[in-house]
Amino acid sequence: MRARADERRREGRRSVLVPTMGALHEGHLNLVREGLRHGDDLTVSIFVNPTQFSPGEDYGRYPRRVDDDVAMLAGIAPHATVFVPDEVMMYPAGRERNLTWIEVDELTEHLCGAHRPGHFRGVTTIVGMLFNICRPHTAVFGLKDAQQFVILKRMTSDLHFGVDLVGVPTVREESGLALSSRNAYLSDEERRQATVLSKSVFAAEYEVVRNGERRPEALVNTMTRILEGAPDASIQYAEVVHAGTLRPMAQIQAGDTILAAVAVFFRTTRLIDSVFITAPSD
Ligand code: AMP
Repeated sequence: MRARADERRREGRRSVLVPTMGALHEGHLNLVREGLRHGDDLTVSIFVNPTQFSPGEDYGRYPRRVDDDVAMLAGIAPHATVFVPDEVMMYPAGRERNLTWIEVDELTEHLCGAHRPGHFRGVTTIVGMLFNICRPHTAVFGLKDAQQFVILKRMTSDLHFGVDLVGVPTVREESGLALSSRNAYLSDEERRQATVLSKSVFAAEYEVVRNGERRPEALVNTMTRILEGAPDASIQYAEVVHAGTLRPMAQIQAGDTILAAVAVFFRTTRLIDSVFITAPSD
């Protein structure tokens, strides 16, 4: 993979990486479409990264269907390289014996970072590895994983990876439900109820943009009330943080960009959603 990437770089091509865990859906395909606009050597990686799953999470049952993924990619990016490493390639010493990790401080303290021990360390380390192997000029990520995007941007800048990161807006079903490989775990009823996630973050946006709400706790209350409307949902968090620091703030100022984010379980299925909101001047 690296020899191929280096060779194409020497030819003067612009390489773009789209990292995924496979089980591709329209959200991933949108990242690929965006990637095609940023270069002429596109690589899509597919790797279900064990180190970003916390103990007890769904690593074992995470959907794996590489053949279907490759067929989907062939439809929209026939010249793309599909990089499907196995665990031994990525963790040659074994994942339990990997000694070198990338950790980003502070930005990992709230939201998902507070609830998924080791998750972001696994993400930043694997993305760092993929950058070193695939040597992209540009890498494309979804804003659905908003905290991940903020963390990866900071990692890329702090460690001088020299990769431009592009964030792509969340692709949703008509119901508002954000597309996710994990939606496949939901029953029809749970899928119906799962629309509360997008409703809650969009309600927070409405409150800020239309009603001039500036109190983070009022937004959290609004989001929580909506999430509680789904009888089978169990709320992990509903939070409002500053989009730059990912820390809670006492008051939202005009011009601030905040992130309203929620995480909810339906039985063992964990779903997230979020929206960046810029408070207008009064
Ligand atoms: P995953 O395979 O779930 O690890 O996701 C791979 C990439 O696709 C990440 O950058 C995600 O943020 C992005 N992604 C996942 N779902 C969506 C979606 N519904 N809309 C946009 N991007 C997404």
